Amino acid sequence: MKFADLGLSDELLKAVADAGYDEPTPIQAQAIPPVLMMKDIIGIAQTGTGKTASFVLPMIDILAHGRSRARMPRSLILEPTRELAAQVAENFEKYGKNHNLSMALLIGGVSMGDQIKALEKGVDVLIATPGRLMDLFERGRILMSGCELLVIDEADRMLDMGFIPDIEQICSKLPSTRQTMLFSATMPPPIKKLSDQFLNNPKSVEVSRPATANTSIDQSIIHVAPKAKRKLLYGILDNEGVDTAIIFCNRKTEVRDLCQDMRKDGFDAGQIHGDMDQSSRLAELERFKSGEINILCASDVAARGLDIKGVSHVVNYDIPWHPDDYIHRIGRTGRAGATGIAITFVTNRDEEHVDSIEKLTGMKLPVRDSKSVKPEKKPSGKKSSADKSKSEKPKKPNKPRPDEHTEAKKTSSKSPSPPVEKSKKPEKQAPIAEAADTQDDDWNGPVPGFLDAKLDR
Ligand code: AMP
Repeated sequence: MKFADLGLSDELLKAVADAGYDEPTPIQAQAIPPVLMMKDIIGIAQTGTGKTASFVLPMIDILAHGRSRARMPRSLILEPTRELAAQVAENFEKYGKNHNLSMALLIGGVSMGDQIKALEKGVDVLIATPGRLMDLFERGRILMSGCELLVIDEADRMLDMGFIPDIEQICSKLPSTRQTMLFSATMPPPIKKLSDQFLNNPKSVEVSRPATANTSIDQSIIHVAPKAKRKLLYGILDNEGVDTAIIFCNRKTEVRDLCQDMRKDGFDAGQIHGDMDQSSRLAELERFKSGEINILCASDVAARGLDIKGVSHVVNYDIPWHPDDYIHRIGRTGRAGATGIAITFVTNRDEEHVDSIEKLTGMKLPVRDSKSVKPEKKPSGKKSSADKSKSEKPKKPNKPRPDEHTEAKKTSSKSPSPPVEKSKKPEKQAPIAEAADTQDDDWNGPVPGFLDAKLDR
């Protein structure tokens, strides 16, 4: 199957060719023709399958003719998180570069003023998180009656985050003649109910889950005492060819503490979690994508959907409580045909989480002996990114070419110049593992989704 067989316009085919795509992915091949025929669709697909282009490409052609009116967006894409919304907007810009469509991004955490101005001018495509959309709707800044095309993306994530009542309300305000596309990695009963209620004779298209089927990710677990996690992590980062790594923790406090300690210990580390405001989250992501930092400490806010090329390692510093999150987390590596390594730390309290992950993935996770990880190299003398940026090192793009790796390593780990903070702090003694169990407000599993959702309002 070729892109040219799907019925897309020449302008789009050119944009797709410029993006470097040779052929459509399975979800694109299945979804694009029915969407162009104005059918409703249910797409059962995860991020990483090319699903964004499967709705963005046909939408651009559908919207190519017609004009937008003030406060009346012609189409609406709902995303559960600001990062995903921003990513879809980037996709729109990339694929729509030969069209003249207007777009607005309505996400929480940024000023409403510019968003309101964009709406006043009229937009062809509105990409929004449900909270901010409802907020502006209730203030009378948006009229939904002109919206003929709706995409509900990552519906199961919306469910986790408590957005379904908002979505029901939004659907009921759109014209009943609209075309609706719903994408979800799984179809739990509430999502099935939502689609029965709001989609009209939809065509279902389904592709296999990329992470479970993804044999290009080398997965393993390592048993470790909570107090020994930090040393084990440093050993891996120092000795196992890590170019770029995302280190996932279950709690925001742990993300913060780990990042802080790693910076003090000379690693080029950044952080992303739901307590950070939108601009800091995006700025930190940008630093990671551009290669300014090569380690990102993250909560599950970064697990789903983020498309960052060339992440060589994912380390689950804490095993996720929810097995679905495991799939999403490890899916940040091994993307687009590249190989990746996913290592999960398991303490003696975590066995039941290992069981549920193995049940979900249908595979036994290989166990590595912690002794197989060489101890961290001498920590003194590591050079921080702040230090580095002032000196010789130019920004390097993520996933450097093989010949760039050596250079990146040389500067990122062991430089003779002293780090910004010279001495390595004494190893923290199991700081969070014990303490956080009582910190409900810092829970970052399925429940913290609600916290993130609140931030979006
Ligand atoms: P998504 O599932 O939409 O997050 O897309 C995952 C990645 O696949 C993104 O980096 C896209 O740029 C890339 N992609 C989308 N469609 C194709 C294609 N047909 N061929 C190769 N890469 C693609």
